[in-house]
Amino acid sequence: MTQTRSTNEKPLIRIRNLKKKFGNLEVIKDVNMDVYKGEVVVIIGSSGSGKSTLLRCVNHLEKPTGGEIYFNDTQINSPSTNLNEVRQNLGMVFQQFNLFNHMTVLKNLMCAPLSVKKDPVEVKKNALSLLEKVGLIDKKDEYPLMLSGGQQQRVAIARALAMNPQVMLFDEPTSALDPELIGEVLAVMKALANDGMTMMVVTHEMGFAREVADRICFMENGTIEEDGTPEYIFNSDNKRLRSFLNVLN
Ligand code: ADP
Ligand code: MG
Repeated sequence: MTQTRSTNEKPLIRIRNLKKKFGNLEVIKDVNMDVYKGEVVVIIGSSGSGKSTLLRCVNHLEKPTGGEIYFNDTQINSPSTNLNEVRQNLGMVFQQFNLFNHMTVLKNLMCAPLSVKKDPVEVKKNALSLLEKVGLIDKKDEYPLMLSGGQQQRVAIARALAMNPQVMLFDEPTSALDPELIGEVLAVMKALANDGMTMMVVTHEMGFAREVADRICFMENGTIEEDGTPEYIFNSDNKRLRSFLNVLN
């Protein structure tokens, strides 16, 4: 690990000895990771290496079979934890947008905050300002399926932000997009990173990783094989990492 943090700063997310099995298949094998406030951690690795499962354990869409995950001082995978409360702090964006297609764009953003009884006037104001931020204010009354994939994904990002999360989790947010639409989504993510958002991002977009990541974690077979700055990762002589990066090029 290449941490350059002061020793008294506590990570926002702490993953300790994380294990996840599906039946007999060991998908996550003893993963340890710290994510500090404001950090952008990009997770790379070949298909099936456990990247999605790792992210999904962080917001407990998957239940770990061993180890601990902490958000601040709350252990996420403890039976006594109020999951809904913790999840409000962990916005998630998926490869397949997962928008509510029967609701307008604006309603998509307002839905979750209203469901936890936030003030409707504030909720709407915040939703409009988020749509402004992702460049889609003129689409507020459209339905998701009327939009391009890139626009839908920007709505999905704004919707996740509407709960005012402390961390954003992205699982291959641009993998389902036509090449010409990838840039607009990465630009929104980059702006978010520049605003100081703490982010965990699974992606194959190495340009984004190089430019935006504070740290890159290379996963292989359910373990974190390398963890370091972009400079470290792109110059590493780890054979498996090199061959992974070569395949992408
Ligand atoms: P990645 O996101 O790196 O492609 P995943 O975390 O999706 O990898 O998957 C890691 C491994 O776990 C794969 O072998 C996959 O088939 C398996 N897996 C993922 N989800 C499930 C599940 N719900 N049930 C059984 N096996 C699963
Ligand atoms: Mg995946």
